Amino acid sequence: MKRTAFKRKATWKRLAPMSERRKSEAREYKKRRALFLQAHPICTIRKLCNGARSRVVCHLKGRGIYFLDESTWGAGCWICEWWLTNHATQAIAEGLAMDRIGKTKDK
Ligand SMILES: [Zn+2]
Repeated sequence: MKRTAFKRKATWKRLAPMSERRKSEAREYKKRRALFLQAHPICTIRKLCNGARSRVVCHLKGRGIYFLDESTWGAGCWICEWWLTNHATQAIAEGLAMDRIGKTKDK
């Protein structure tokens, strides 16, 4: 029996030094995240909570090129964000997160 290894490589290089562009993105992100959470004070995922106070921005489509794309953000409470991170496939199946495997050249 032939087995085909199906491996998805992580695209996020943790060890890469932060570029200037990345740094300014991070600054921008901090600002926008605060505003975003102000505008969305209640968890929008509501997987494990019943409308808890939102604390974090969930990157429903991953970070990468969507890092600053607020249309891919969601406001989440701690517990739902944790769930989303750890059940990505299920979250996508349930429509709580966006498929991040799809081609992203259309931007
Ligand atoms: Zn929640």
